[in-house]
Amino acid sequence: MRIATIHGRVALIDGAGSGAVDVEMASGGRFGSEPAGVYERWTEFAAWAGSAPLPLPEALEPESLGSPSPNLRQVFAIGLNYSAHAAESGFARSDTSPPVFTKYPSCITGPYTDIELPSGGHTDWEVELVVVIGPAARHVAAADAWRYVAGLSAGQDVSERRLQMAATPPQFSLGKSYPGFGPVGPWLVTPDEFDDPNDLELGCSINGEQLQVGHTRELIFGVPDLIEQLSRVTPLLPGDLIFTGTPQGVGIGRNPPRWLAPGDVLTSYIEGIGEMRHRFVASGLGGRGANSDPEEER
Ligand code: ZN
Repeated sequence: MRIATIHGRVALIDGAGSGAVDVEMASGGRFGSEPAGVYERWTEFAAWAGSAPLPLPEALEPESLGSPSPNLRQVFAIGLNYSAHAAESGFARSDTSPPVFTKYPSCITGPYTDIELPSGGHTDWEVELVVVIGPAARHVAAADAWRYVAGLSAGQDVSERRLQMAATPPQFSLGKSYPGFGPVGPWLVTPDEFDDPNDLELGCSINGEQLQVGHTRELIFGVPDLIEQLSRVTPLLPGDLIFTGTPQGVGIGRNPPRWLAPGDVLTSYIEGIGEMRHRFVASGLGGRGANSDPEEER
C-alpha cells in the first residue's frame, strides 16, 4: 500500500504511482481528510485500505503531493549512520549510540518543491530513508519494531553547514531546519511491499550527475535498532518521522567541498519507493517551499 498527501488530503496511490484515491471519499467519511488521522488509527486504517472496494483512481499530479505525514509532532534524525559517511565527515563511527538530533517540524515539505538557499550559506544534500511511525511505540524491542512502522519514504536532510558548524559542539538541528529543508515523499510504502525492507538502494544526483549511492543494509543502526533505542527514551507517536542517516557522497565530504547553487535540481530516489525532485533558488526569490503556502503544504 502507498499513502500520500495530495493538496493536504490523505490518499491511496496505485501500484503504478500514477493514480490516486481520496481516502475520505472512498471510505464514505469513516476516515477524514487529515493524514494525521490515519496514523492515529493505523491498524484500523490499514485493515480497511487492504480490503475495501475502491473507486477507480484519478490521475495524480506530482506537484500536488506533500509530505505523507505533514502535521506531525516529532522528527528524529540520525547522524553518522553509515561508516563511509562518518569517515568523510571526519568523525569516528559509534557502534553503541547514534547521534540523534531533530529537524523542526516546520521544515517538512513535499517531494516536488523549490527550496530557498539561505544567503551566505553552504547548503548540502543528504538523501535518507525516512520511517513513518504508525502505532505509538514505547519500549519496543528491535524484533517487534517493524509492527510500529506505517511505511517507508524518501527524504532529504538538507543541511546548511555554516550554521551547523557555527557553535561548539555543532548545532545540527538549527542548520537543518530552514523552511523546506525536510522534503519527504513521494509517498510512503508499507513494509510488506518490499522483498526486504532492510536492504534498499538510495541515492541522489544534481543536474543529472549522481553524487550519492548507498544501501540501507549498510546502516550501522538499522530501522529496528533505531526504534528500540529511541522508544526506550521517548514515546514514538503516530505520524512521527525518523530520518535514518545518509550514505557517503555529501558536499562537505568532497575535496574541494561542493554546495548547492541557485538553479541546481536535486533528484533523490529510493528503490521500491520512488523519486523526489527539488529545485534550489536564491534567497528572497520566493521559492515554493514549506513557508510559502501553508494550505497547500498541509
Ligand atoms: Zn542526515
